[in-house]
Amino acid sequence: MRWLCALLLSFSLAGAGRSQEHTVRIGVLGIFHPQELTLAADPGGELLISAANQGLFVRARSSCSILSIRISGGGLALSCGGKEIRATGMRASGRNQQSAGLVISVPGKLKRRYEGILEVKVKNGELVPIVTMGLETAVASVVQAETSTGVPLEALKAQAVVSRSYFVAGRGRHTDFDFCDLTHCQFLREAPASESAAAKAAAATQGLLLTYEDKPVAAMFTRSCSGHTRTPEEIGLPWSGYPYFSVACDFCYQNPVRWTRKVSRADAALLSRGENGRLAVGRRLGWDAVPSNNFTAREEGGEVILEGVGQGHGVGLCQRGARGMAEAGADFRAILQHYFPNIKIQELPSVP
Ligand SMILES: [Zn+2]
Ligand SMILES: [Zn+2]
Repeated sequence: MRWLCALLLSFSLAGAGRSQEHTVRIGVLGIFHPQELTLAADPGGELLISAANQGLFVRARSSCSILSIRISGGGLALSCGGKEIRATGMRASGRNQQSAGLVISVPGKLKRRYEGILEVKVKNGELVPIVTMGLETAVASVVQAETSTGVPLEALKAQAVVSRSYFVAGRGRHTDFDFCDLTHCQFLREAPASESAAAKAAAATQGLLLTYEDKPVAAMFTRSCSGHTRTPEEIGLPWSGYPYFSVACDFCYQNPVRWTRKVSRADAALLSRGENGRLAVGRRLGWDAVPSNNFTAREEGGEVILEGVGQGHGVGLCQRGARGMAEAGADFRAILQHYFPNIKIQELPSVP
């Protein structure tokens, strides 16, 4: 019950008077370093924009159907239907401060629809959009973003429990919000349709978490491993809490994902520092530049050739192995018990 108290203290409540649920604050679209955003409501919906003690409504087919959000003099310049507001930050919600559909565009790049409450501020010359969304919406969105088509439902359910556990226990990786929408935290795009496999996997495991000694575990996952998973210590990451184990992964052992890359000597030296070195190289050259931390290195013509196996850090749930287990008939509980020995699967207490 210790973690029940922690959860009650640390979770904000969404909705005003409606059924309350656990929420997470996710920084979105940061990869685009946005200078300008537009915001619209769902067709038939409306958004209440609050900024600098002023309010306005964004509604389809009204004089204010699309809100423009720009940086101006270190703050925000909001304009819609001829009205302009200058503010240091803004908030967008439904009329009663509740979650609503948020259609956000980075002009010329993309448009995404989120469900939640939006805050926008300016930091280091960029707009920082933060969506506070229901935990279950966030879980379904990650399952959708993390999985390819054809993955059996039991593997998706295992992913849903892992992602939910991470959202509940893994906060604190960012200062302005709880999680980003990249693989640094958990890759997340739009919420999936309710009839999608990802949404079904989240709904079928609603509220279930991995716990160890009665505390939720910030569970890690990897795309594929080298035939066995690794511990954080093995890849040079400091770790406390759940003691990860190196467990055998039959599917990857029989069908390893092998890769070859060329890197500079300087990058090879960085890579010798373990996972943090790989992350540093990935931030600069892209996340596929060195797919995993399990490789051999040899010099050739002033460059270094890496020959490796696996995708990702190799710790925790192996997505490819989970798929293999599900195809062989395992259910999500068996998959989770395999990749996380000594773990319990417990229900998240509801917000009273
Ligand atoms: Zn992050
Ligand atoms: Zn594996």
